[in-house]
Amino acid sequence: MTSLLTRRILPPTPGAPHIFSVDVEDYFQVVAFEGIVDRARWSSYDSRVEANTDRLLGLLAERGVSGTFFTLGWVAEHHPGIVRRIAAQGHEVASHGHWHRRVNTLSREEFREELRASKARLEALSGQPCLGFRAPSFSITPGHEWAFDLLLEEGFRYDSSLFPIRRPDYGYPSAPASPFLIDRPAGTLLELPLATLRWLGLRLPAAGGGYLRQFPTGLIRRAFRQAGDAGISAMFYIHPWEYDAQQPRLPCGRVTRLRHYGNLGRTWSRMQSLLAEFSFTSVVRRYPEWLGQVTPAGAAQ
Ligand SMILES: [Zn+2]
Repeated sequence: MTSLLTRRILPPTPGAPHIFSVDVEDYFQVVAFEGIVDRARWSSYDSRVEANTDRLLGLLAERGVSGTFFTLGWVAEHHPGIVRRIAAQGHEVASHGHWHRRVNTLSREEFREELRASKARLEALSGQPCLGFRAPSFSITPGHEWAFDLLLEEGFRYDSSLFPIRRPDYGYPSAPASPFLIDRPAGTLLELPLATLRWLGLRLPAAGGGYLRQFPTGLIRRAFRQAGDAGISAMFYIHPWEYDAQQPRLPCGRVTRLRHYGNLGRTWSRMQSLLAEFSFTSVVRRYPEWLGQVTPAGAAQ
């Protein structure tokens, strides 16, 4: 398949840190609740995103780690203080869209609006250029490569939306499993796919999130060790609601209940052990050569 046009895999960098990323959204904004939570009523829910993100900022400060926070424009609009604190503490602020709409459900015009609305607001609050994007639910899937052109046209320099696995609801199975450059007519975009584990000829999802909560920790650690041994920076991700066992329960079906609420109480300690075993940094600090030497202010690693 040549649907990514040309692609160039980045050479290995022995000893390079992995990437720590956070998708900053509230528990009621996830795609699995789209059918029961009306976007127009988001403001009426008991919000927990600020407190949960602050807790994570505390942990990262303790460990001296800086991360990349893919933040919803809606969260920035309603909770501007948290974006300011993320930036003030030396982290990178990137975009997770504005309304948490999946890219593969949008027209080009709608996607452009998502990018513009979130980028402008995040830059104004953080004082940093917003260079990166992560699609809600990894929704840049085969057939929607036009999204890369829009990202380039709107001033983004990298994307981290491709999960190189096959899932019923997302995934870009033919994507390389390590960072690569996507050459498009509009320019070149750095792509940072989500971490996977190579195991018995299979590629298993191991990047964090629900996989950190539901899979054996050994599998996740093995994926990061395997990438590290190959000189590859693996992409970790987490959501602030994933370590919040006290979040309000929404009325959903059994599968969503297991996926969303399963093992929330274990996430924090699992994340702590990953931070203890591996070194992590933000995208902008890991790839200054691709991102124009833009480094956010702050003292963290
Ligand atoms: Zn999301």
